[in-house]
Amino acid sequence: MSGKAIAQSQFDRAADLIGLESYMRRILVSPFREVQVEVPVRMDDGRIEVFTGYRIQHNGARGPCKGGIRYHPEADHDEVLGLATIMTWKTALMDIPFGGAKGGVTVDPRKLSKLELERLTRRFTQRIAIVLGPYRDIPAPDVNTNAQVMAWILDEYSSRQGYTPAVVTGKPVSLGGSLGRDEATGRGVMYVMAEYARDFGIPLKGARVVIQGFGNVGGHLARLLVTEAAAKVLAVSDVDGGIVNDKGLDIPGLLAHAAERRPVSEWKGGSPITNDALWTVPCEWLVPAALGGVITKEKNAKTLDCKVVVEGANEPTTPTADLILAERSIPVIPDFLANAGGVTVSYYEWAQNLQQYRWTHEQVNKELKATITKAYEAVRDMAKAKRCTFRTAAYAIALSRVAEAERLRGN
Ligand code: NAD
Repeated sequence: MSGKAIAQSQFDRAADLIGLESYMRRILVSPFREVQVEVPVRMDDGRIEVFTGYRIQHNGARGPCKGGIRYHPEADHDEVLGLATIMTWKTALMDIPFGGAKGGVTVDPRKLSKLELERLTRRFTQRIAIVLGPYRDIPAPDVNTNAQVMAWILDEYSSRQGYTPAVVTGKPVSLGGSLGRDEATGRGVMYVMAEYARDFGIPLKGARVVIQGFGNVGGHLARLLVTEAAAKVLAVSDVDGGIVNDKGLDIPGLLAHAAERRPVSEWKGGSPITNDALWTVPCEWLVPAALGGVITKEKNAKTLDCKVVVEGANEPTTPTADLILAERSIPVIPDFLANAGGVTVSYYEWAQNLQQYRWTHEQVNKELKATITKAYEAVRDMAKAKRCTFRTAAYAIALSRVAEAERLRGN
């Protein structure tokens, strides 16, 4: 069975669980709209380089499409479509009034100057602006994009449409961004881990955690686990390698080191390890928080030495690896539950922009905790009632909500 066929079987398993009609399955697996654009950018040396960009809107039955934009050399149509689909399930599972979308540009941003990155962002925004809008499709940051990139999108869109802060989330706070948005995904992962820890008797206090990725999600999660949950983060990695310390890493020190754009493996507070060796470090909680497709049958699914996998990244576990982990009785907390904190606070940011009203950081965290805990409890209860994995339960809840919206709208 191919990976795609197994992914389809994951969808079918959840659809069977809720008795979904076959025409509705067809609507829910296919994207609503796909846009592919060529993006010519004048480079600093005067040449024009042309990049390919995508914005795929998977489903908008429950509200405007919502999802990040990533800049990555391997971003392509299939990856963006897969990520857009996850966004539909994520917003439905969190019960926030959005659909799912994703964008990407095939580019290695490390090879671009800041001005080239700005020109790329502005040109990409111009080319997809026709499908964007506060009630149509609202981008946000993802891999290799950040608050500055969102500020350029806001400026470019607003220069033609008038001031429109609600067209994009994850903006700098001084431009209408929400307090707490920057750390929201990592904070949401921590809240879900805390609930699971209590329910399944794997206390976070003193627990050993390994995290792949030390960017927005991994960095904030590591900090919050250490400072608010008294866990021990033993090992983390970035694109250049990893670092391990059996006694627990000094995360604030490591964050200060990484903030100077230095690889984590060069930090003196631990021993360097390869990216592959990171998967062999024994721990209670293993959190992939970098890219997709990193836990695979061939590489590591049979040898991971952890009690729980928490998907901080999107699609880190291939469907075949997912089956292997289930056979090994290693539970997986799926991406569209675990990492939904980001889009949830993006919703609060959008709402604040539309209301022209500001929330405090405490209010954001309180609402985030309530929303993600409610979603977690629904998944836990469904998994128990139907004797299925958290992934199938999360899928089933999300599918039934999107299908209900489609039906009510006349489909
Ligand atoms: P980021 O660009 O801030 O950080 C990515 C991290 O992964 C960096 O530390 C990078 O060095 C590391 N990395 C990249 N390639 C690697 C490799 N081959 N091996 C080891 N480490 C590698 O990105 P992010 O925003 O933290 O996103 C990480 C993941 O979380 C992505 O899958 C993204 O889709 C998902 N996600 C992000 C958000 C968000 O709000 N930022 C929300 C939901 C999901």
